[in-house]
Amino acid sequence: MTPRDFISDLRVYEPGKPIDEVARDLGFDDVAAIVKVASNENELGPSPMAIEAMQAAIPEMHRYPDGGAFHLKRKLAGKLDVAPDQLLFGCGSNELIVFLAHVFLEPGRNLVMGAEAFAVYFLVAALYNAECVRVPMPAHTHDLDALLEAITPETRLVAVCNPNNPTGTMVAPAALDRFIEQLPEHVVAIIDEAYFEVMPEAMKPDVLKHIRAGRENVLVLRTFSKGYGLAGLRIGYAIGHPNLIGLLNQVRQPFNVNAMAQAAAMAALDDVTHIVETREMVRAGLTFFENELSALGVETVPSGANFILAKTGRGREVFEQLQKRKVIVRPMDPYGLPEQVRITVGTPEQNQQVVNALKEVLA
Ligand SMILES: *Cc1c(COP(=O)(O)O)cnc(C)c1O
Repeated sequence: MTPRDFISDLRVYEPGKPIDEVARDLGFDDVAAIVKVASNENELGPSPMAIEAMQAAIPEMHRYPDGGAFHLKRKLAGKLDVAPDQLLFGCGSNELIVFLAHVFLEPGRNLVMGAEAFAVYFLVAALYNAECVRVPMPAHTHDLDALLEAITPETRLVAVCNPNNPTGTMVAPAALDRFIEQLPEHVVAIIDEAYFEVMPEAMKPDVLKHIRAGRENVLVLRTFSKGYGLAGLRIGYAIGHPNLIGLLNQVRQPFNVNAMAQAAAMAALDDVTHIVETREMVRAGLTFFENELSALGVETVPSGANFILAKTGRGREVFEQLQKRKVIVRPMDPYGLPEQVRITVGTPEQNQQVVNALKEVLA
């Protein structure tokens, strides 16, 4: 076999392990006792309305899905006040990041991102053998001016995760407006809003107003994986100018979003209560962690997402020790943060279990 040269240099992304696998690895038989707070999933589970819609969809699973997601597109367009041709669905918003790379990246071009931002951007740039320019993030926060300054004639994409995974930090809405206004025409800004539904209201930027005003080179990414609690279905979406959406649609496989995901997403959009409950659980949980961890002498970073970055020291070791106590967090050494772990906010009981286990580990 002769793969292309750069393939052997690609790093394989280390995802949070499924609970089953951890149980097998550590010889636990009670899977239910494991608290997995490693992948920013919604511990409330899916909306009951989405569960009902999925059950109703089962008998039709011999059919291919609607490749154009006609109904979902219309419904979401109404909710967001954009036209249906300004939306594109992906098998998770991850797939949309791959579409962006497919359309815009090749050797000799680059992607600009924050040094402590979502790893998938880095990995996808590598996949297309393009350069990835990683810009320092003071106080774990995107420096929008530094991102603009890092742009070169070869840059095609610049990514801003807001709130950022894994640091939880947000950029000021007015600063993001200025960033978008100053963006050169040859660069597409990806504004990744994977945690939009759980963000504090006062920090929510209105990026869609730029898109509604005809801005071509800005793309917003959102997902049903986090706030909506449907990560297992793999469905996310992009919002952008019809010309940009059209380019991305050209590299999409016809049935990239499955029928079960479309049915669940339709129902989830109607369940306002589920989102409100999720946001309240997350906000209360973040306050709990800030207080409890600070009492343990562990520094945290103020978060606008459903997780918190905690400076426990010896992150990888703390991760391993917690895992032995049936608590799975995420070590942050792959992000150049070896002293930190990332903890997803769960239910109050789960949060308490995490703190209890952490107390033992740090004692
Ligand atoms: C989780 C996450 C995504 C991707 O989610 P999908 O499950 O692929 O929709 C994208 N961006 C960020 C910053 C995330 O944290």
